[in-house]
Amino acid sequence: MRRRHFLAAGGALFLTACSRTVPTPVAAPTTSAPLPTPAAPTTSAAPTPTPTPTPTRGTAAEIAARSTVPVLCYHQLRELEPDDGEYSRSITFPPATFRAQLEAVRDGGRTPIRAAALLDHLEFGTPLPEKPVLLTFDDGSAGHATVALPLLQELGFPAMFFPMTVVLDKPNWLSRDDLRRLDAAGMEIGAHTWDHQRLDRLPDDQWHTQLDEPAATLAEVLGRPVDVMAYPFGVWAPRTLPHVTEAGYRAAFQLAEAVDPEQPMLTIRRVMPSPTWDGDTLLAHLDEDFTPGA
Ligand SMILES: [Zn+2]
Repeated sequence: MRRRHFLAAGGALFLTACSRTVPTPVAAPTTSAPLPTPAAPTTSAAPTPTPTPTPTRGTAAEIAARSTVPVLCYHQLRELEPDDGEYSRSITFPPATFRAQLEAVRDGGRTPIRAAALLDHLEFGTPLPEKPVLLTFDDGSAGHATVALPLLQELGFPAMFFPMTVVLDKPNWLSRDDLRRLDAAGMEIGAHTWDHQRLDRLPDDQWHTQLDEPAATLAEVLGRPVDVMAYPFGVWAPRTLPHVTEAGYRAAFQLAEAVDPEQPMLTIRRVMPSPTWDGDTLLAHLDEDFTPGA
């Protein structure tokens, strides 16, 4: 059902439901004109269909134990420039290299999943397909719309994008229209702060700017709540987590640290593939980097 909706042109409505904290079954919109049903109640109380039982949220230990689904974190997707330094080259994928890695994901029998499906799996234990993997893209560079989106659509892969909001509509970065295009194509969008500050050492007067405002900005662009984020540099500290919760985020993605046993939803692990990895190396990392205790 999810995949059908993901591919359907009208998938946007479904995504709204999926991004909510509790995956309540989507009832018929109560805002639609009442149908002329003879038995329609005349009271103002909306007739609430009996929902299927609300899934039970797992304990922190259960969520941590389920945190074995590989999550990849990509950054720049473009041809290398002569003045790209060492770090730049480590996070920049020429389009052909990026294609080779995604084709390896496909040929290796992996199933890219939506972030919402991963979060439901972690929180509620809802099942995932065989060999799931989540693809994520940080920072919001233009290649996410020009390189990643067409290839993801060609392969039928969903993915999650985490743009900084400071860059929106700037040259070489995603525009607000790009975000709406990604969203309309069934991709998911999360926050990545305003301007990429380290959240382990953020001054206390900046939480609102870095956590609350970006989610509000993205929600306004997309017309839906945004309640997932990725830490800049993948970095967090125990003092970070209460602010993330306070700002309304359901989940947050980091990089290589161990999952926090008390806050596993706010410390979901990812790995950054290297552009030097061939397909077999990438698949080996998916297998090995997310085993318990890795
Ligand atoms: Zn980043």
